[in-house]
Amino acid sequence: MADVIRLLPDSVANQIAAGEVVQRPASVVKELLENAVDAGASEIRLVVQEGGHTLIQVTDNGCGMSPIDARMSFERHATSKIKEANDLFAIRTMGFRGEALASIASVAWVELKTKRDADELGTRILIEGSKLMTQEELATVSGTTFAVKNLFYNIPARKNFLKAPAIEFRHILDEFLRVAIPNPDIFMSLTHNGKEMYHLPSGNLRQRIVGVFGKNYNDKLVPIQETTDVLKISGFVGKPDFTKKTRGEQYFFVNKRFIKSPYLHIAVMQAFEDLIPKDAFPFYILSLEIDPSQVDVNVHPTKQEIKFEDDRLIFQLLKASVRHGLGQHQITPVLDFDQDANFESSFQPRSTFERLSDKPQQSVSSFSSSFDRTPSKPSSNQNLRNWERLYEGMKQMPAEQPPVMPEDFDEPKTQTEVEPLFRKEERLPYQIHNTYIISPIKSGFMLLSQQAASERILYEQYLQKLYNQPVVVQRQLFPKQIELPTADAEVLRTILSEIKLLGIEVQETAENQFAIIGVPAESKGELNEKTLLENLISQFKNNVDIALDIKENVARSMAKTTAIKSGKSLSTLEMQNLIDQLFACEVPYSSPSGQLCFISYSLEEIKERLSGE
Ligand code: ADP
Ligand code: MG
Repeated sequence: MADVIRLLPDSVANQIAAGEVVQRPASVVKELLENAVDAGASEIRLVVQEGGHTLIQVTDNGCGMSPIDARMSFERHATSKIKEANDLFAIRTMGFRGEALASIASVAWVELKTKRDADELGTRILIEGSKLMTQEELATVSGTTFAVKNLFYNIPARKNFLKAPAIEFRHILDEFLRVAIPNPDIFMSLTHNGKEMYHLPSGNLRQRIVGVFGKNYNDKLVPIQETTDVLKISGFVGKPDFTKKTRGEQYFFVNKRFIKSPYLHIAVMQAFEDLIPKDAFPFYILSLEIDPSQVDVNVHPTKQEIKFEDDRLIFQLLKASVRHGLGQHQITPVLDFDQDANFESSFQPRSTFERLSDKPQQSVSSFSSSFDRTPSKPSSNQNLRNWERLYEGMKQMPAEQPPVMPEDFDEPKTQTEVEPLFRKEERLPYQIHNTYIISPIKSGFMLLSQQAASERILYEQYLQKLYNQPVVVQRQLFPKQIELPTADAEVLRTILSEIKLLGIEVQETAENQFAIIGVPAESKGELNEKTLLENLISQFKNNVDIALDIKENVARSMAKTTAIKSGKSLSTLEMQNLIDQLFACEVPYSSPSGQLCFISYSLEEIKERLSGE
């Protein structure tokens, strides 16, 4: 019998490889853009027709290729970027497989024009389905243009599989942004069907973000910047009041390449815990620089998933950095009203970082020094009467390169003289529907939820008592008796020692029978001792979060139980106190269960909405 094993012709082998590399027009875009970046270009232009069905063209002003390299670049395993297997671990230039161009050329028509700066003449190559049709000299500018036409022309099954141009274009856009965002120093443009969709001048990351996402992102960004022995983390996260209900504006880059990492996403989400509602997604663009030997990108053919040598450490570092960044930009206590001249808060919230460091952390010693820069907390007697501080912190621009502003870029005004935030008559808060408080501020107004705000304030106060300053129980002369259903009695038993720290002492006198020895008047509010306990137990049962420790759960339940509720009419003084105390909180944005405590409306926004823009 004749031998049956044959070597596949290269063109077929390339087509098979193409199945991995080239799934759709967007994959071609990704490969060509990455090559252009690797070629050291400072300008990259992407032109697409019909969602890439008919044309994908990338022009760069990078290093260009010699005539021989130009021809070689289409050979499989042809790459200038790795020489030995060890280099595979280096992802500083990640387009390391030498497969992309060979794959693309096997399933499309490709025209390449390229010239090195030093050469007089350039090269033009035409390839159709791996077959070289033309190679000639060409007078052209320095750099490289790849034009990919008729993708999958020779594989009808895959061509039919392509989605409508609009959908393919969405994917192309994603890839374009994944290269544009981490490379703000490179001018990038995207033209689709003759229309320029993006024109992104080179600048810093903030400018790139504004160029990509819009002007209104500018003052929503909190810079993140940490350097450790292992890792450098930089980028921005959105402010906690700037979340979206859907995903899409979350980006991780490792050594400038976009990666998907559900695992690291959790780290960021944990850093935002307490600050944003549970179902919301914060904006983030976070760049990790790490020694390439600590990463393995080969786990996924298109290199979007990677494995870190020590991913738990990276997780901790990332979470801590984001938490730190948010902490530094935290709203600081600001008291504005006349009557608070002698406002003496005994409450000194523990900083995020103290709390963070309570939790066991692994080898982050080299990192901890950055926590020394905890956000400055004004002392309570340093009576800050300027709410504008609150916004100053938020608008603070990090020191970056001198801006080369995109045309319609509004540079945030740096305030040299601080005007009084309110004119006297304008500054009184106002309650609506006995539920919300409207409080004018200089740039517009804030709308607070009295219940969420009160829960937040009390939660932090209870935490403080639970961890640092237990309340002395004031014994009652005639302890009240209460009998509880078995399940509730069980709950109460589990929290007895914690509530005692809050000044609530209860003793079990008989099976499911309890005597209430003491309850501090201020935590009772309008409730009697029995309802306080019953409500507390039911809150605890319904809201217990097993991820939190018992003290935090008790603080939450107590805050819910004793908070000022929606529907309660408040005096001006009560409202003012509530606002002051909220902004003295460590985390004023949201209630412990994740409800926002306030939203702010700027005059600009109001004007826009009224004019129907
Ligand atoms: P890889 O990027 O993995 O090396 P590719 O098939 O994408 O493999 O590219 C093959 C080679 O072609 C690259 O290593 C590089 O030398 C060269 N090349 C590709 N695109 C460009 C470009 N835009 N400018 C200069 N050289 C390029
Ligand atoms: Mg490549």
